[in-house]
Amino acid sequence: MDEFVEAHGKIRLDTTLESLEKHGFGAQYFSTKQAAADFIMTVAADCRSVGIAGTHTVRALGVVPKLEQAGKTLYDHWKMTVGTPEELECRKNQMRADLFLTSANAVTMTGEIVNRDGCGNRTNSMTFGPNKVLVVVGRNKVVGDLDAAIGRIEETAAPIRAMSLNRKTPCTKTGYCMDCDSPERICRVTSILHRKPMFTDITVVIIDEDLGY
Ligand code: SF4
Repeated sequence: MDEFVEAHGKIRLDTTLESLEKHGFGAQYFSTKQAAADFIMTVAADCRSVGIAGTHTVRALGVVPKLEQAGKTLYDHWKMTVGTPEELECRKNQMRADLFLTSANAVTMTGEIVNRDGCGNRTNSMTFGPNKVLVVVGRNKVVGDLDAAIGRIEETAAPIRAMSLNRKTPCTKTGYCMDCDSPERICRVTSILHRKPMFTDITVVIIDEDLGY
């Protein structure tokens, strides 16, 4: 990588870490997925139950099988059939887990965490309930400010997610959000964590690699 591109990327992440800490969040930088995975396993050591949000980023770290091997009770609704009573109960259990692992659609250099959800189990669980929340993001999810965060969701994160779910929504044809009224719309809740919620211990784990979408 060009040295100036690399230096610019590092400055962006340093600024983001500093802003998040000013807003009361924990903030940790890791240069690799492996280092971040080791940190997550250390945090999880004292937890009996772990909720796993619908996230490719966390799964890319390989921590889910490791947590299973460590004997943790996992609430992972991706292993269940959508909409069944069992799956809905799993989403609810995420809100009471000792630890909740999630990613975010965007983290801003001004220190906010931004998400748009279809169900709201992710936005609920990362706000209140679990004893500890780790928000794991690759450098590709760091953006300048709240406008850029919404832009990232509407131009990148949501259309790709709709495509991955095989939804018949206009964004899967245009590549950007059309603010649709489709019954298959996945964008139903927008959450901005401006500051650390009062009773929730949240740490943002920023990895200097591109992860998820
Ligand atoms: S609101 Fe509709 S068009 Fe926009 S990103 Fe979500 S699903 Fe796609």
